[in-house]
Amino acid sequence: MLIEQYATYIGEGNIEEIKAVAEPLKGLKVLHVNSTKLGGGVSEILYRLIPLMRDLGIDAEWQVIKGDEEFFKVTKKIHNLLHMPGHDRLTSEDIITYMRTTHTNLSYIDTSPYDIVFIHDPQPMGLIVNKRQGQKWIWRCHIDISTPDEETWKFIEMFVNAYDAIVFHIAEFAKEGVKIPKFIIAPSIDPFHDKNVELDRNFITSTLEKFGIDPKRPLVLQVSRFDRLKDPFGVLQAFKMVKRACDCQLVLAGGYASDDPEGEEVYNEVMEEASKMKDVFVLNLPPDSHYEINALQRAATVVVQKSIREGFGLVVTEAMWKEKPVVGGNVGGIRRQIVNGFTGYLVNSIEGTAYRIRQLLINSEMAKVMGRNAKERVRHTFLITRQLKDYLVLINYLINSDHIQR
Ligand code: UDP
Repeated sequence: MLIEQYATYIGEGNIEEIKAVAEPLKGLKVLHVNSTKLGGGVSEILYRLIPLMRDLGIDAEWQVIKGDEEFFKVTKKIHNLLHMPGHDRLTSEDIITYMRTTHTNLSYIDTSPYDIVFIHDPQPMGLIVNKRQGQKWIWRCHIDISTPDEETWKFIEMFVNAYDAIVFHIAEFAKEGVKIPKFIIAPSIDPFHDKNVELDRNFITSTLEKFGIDPKRPLVLQVSRFDRLKDPFGVLQAFKMVKRACDCQLVLAGGYASDDPEGEEVYNEVMEEASKMKDVFVLNLPPDSHYEINALQRAATVVVQKSIREGFGLVVTEAMWKEKPVVGGNVGGIRRQIVNGFTGYLVNSIEGTAYRIRQLLINSEMAKVMGRNAKERVRHTFLITRQLKDYLVLINYLINSDHIQR
């Protein structure tokens, strides 16, 4: 994609602004490093961000570290322990595994030609030991590390302190006492992604029909992995309450990875519960069902995201972009996105969820206005162009910060 194409969504003025911020960075060599090319929000955003940076004259590249199963088991453990303390402690063998793979990657990924290095998440963060003078390194932390397991944090902290900046999704995810400059940059969606592009009415209708959903009756939708923290059971209960007063259908659309035994378990339990109810559709979709998810989001009357915990909740952003009022759990990034009573509702209970869904189903004019507000909120705050600009501003700040300190 070329940056100019985004003018349709954000206007020429914003494109000019992005170009102006990028101007002093032309020719700068920027490297992004993460641990996978496929799957997950990090790689999805890098796929779109790197070409845009290049289009702006920045010499941006993306590299991926290598690791075996043992290494990724350790990094998953680190991930979980940074999230919250747990029983499965980090052992000295784990640390050796982490350091050994880091060492292998030090010779595999040559970071020396770059002026700016973005390291995403804990897996590649040990590469910092190769930092040379004059470079700026940024740790892009995609997880909530506000209440970590302290021993794991101590291990990570020795790397963190060597970075020039750390970036979090939302302020609440930041660890107190971090000594390096902290920045908040929220994730974003790309309006040109298959999941977000405008769709033909006939395609939307035929998608609903394919799944046996009635296109003429109101639809309540939650899209999320089959995960207890997304509270599909709470949604089912809320739907039962809504059904007493309104004629509507519920779609729980999601999926799970074949290596996630809990996903399958949750899916089976949800199926079991849903089979006792009328008008509930549980869809287990393959991971590349972008157009189907897009169609379901566009067909929905009300979108729900009743998470109990949530990182950011890109599904909320996606639905808001499609002018849907979203009823979302009052947690994590959902709180940052939904403006309560203006773009949708934040809820704290099953009863509250049912109440707000019903309110939106009954009052279609209010739902329409909220949907429009929601789209404008995403246009201003959660599109990829905003995230791109934030990164450019951050780079500008870092390359000028030595000068500022003098
Ligand atoms: N998603 C998908 N298929 C599914 C469930 C989710 O493609 O079966 C997508 C969804 O559209 C969104 C992302 O996966 O783009 C989920 O991101 P979010 O931040 O909402 O939640 P996470 O799964 O990262 O906790």
